[in-house]
Amino acid sequence: MLSGPSGVGKSTVLARVRSLVPGLWYSVSATTRPRRPGEIDGVNYHFVTEEQFAELVAQGRLLEHAHFAGNHYGTPRDAVEQRLAAGQDVLLEIEVQGARQVRAAPGLGPEAVLIFLAPPSFDELARRLVGRGTEDEATRQARLLAARTELDAEREFDHRVVNTDVQSAAAGLVQLMTGSRPGSPVG
Ligand code: ADP
Ligand code: 5GP
Repeated sequence: MLSGPSGVGKSTVLARVRSLVPGLWYSVSATTRPRRPGEIDGVNYHFVTEEQFAELVAQGRLLEHAHFAGNHYGTPRDAVEQRLAAGQDVLLEIEVQGARQVRAAPGLGPEAVLIFLAPPSFDELARRLVGRGTEDEATRQARLLAARTELDAEREFDHRVVNTDVQSAAAGLVQLMTGSRPGSPVG
């Protein structure tokens, strides 16, 4: 499971990790957040309405869910459970409240490996968020406020990787996830 404050580079680093580890299964979350330019429904997220999200929660179809900076996010339960039942590893990219729920889930939490992707500094995090250019000022402020709390939760995680440069951060994640170095056989 990978967490870390908004703008630290989780999506960017994971895209690289996925190119280094073919076949790694990644859980596509449901969210009520509006789609960003370039995002594809069913690939980056399942984009749903508030009503659809509430229904997923009511039907117990989310493994975990959280409200983050004005939007709802959750992990579809069935797909993850099917992969785990088949003995496959699954990768979740979720914020801290969700990571805590997974950690507390019987039969799931004890096995889960929690990795925190940290920024080199808070100022650099703020710069990346501005540089991405996908949020207005109010939304950026909400995300940076959440980031303060998330950075405080870092010690709850099993491992910490600092995203100074994408290549090294991805290599660090690959090593933690597979116990091997990129380029050598995985599994
Ligand atoms: P997250 O998924 O954690 O919200 P993103 O992957 O969208 O973050 O990255 C936020 C911004 O920071 C993007 O514009 C991305 O290109 C940039 N970025 C990511 N990693 C780095 C890095 N190591 N150095 C500089 N910029 C980075
Ligand atoms: P973003 O809107 O930038 O894509 O994501 C905002 C935050 O929500 C990020 O920290 C991301 O990891 C988190 N997130 C994405 N999907 C899920 C999910 O299914 N559950 C939870 N709890 N958080 C998620």
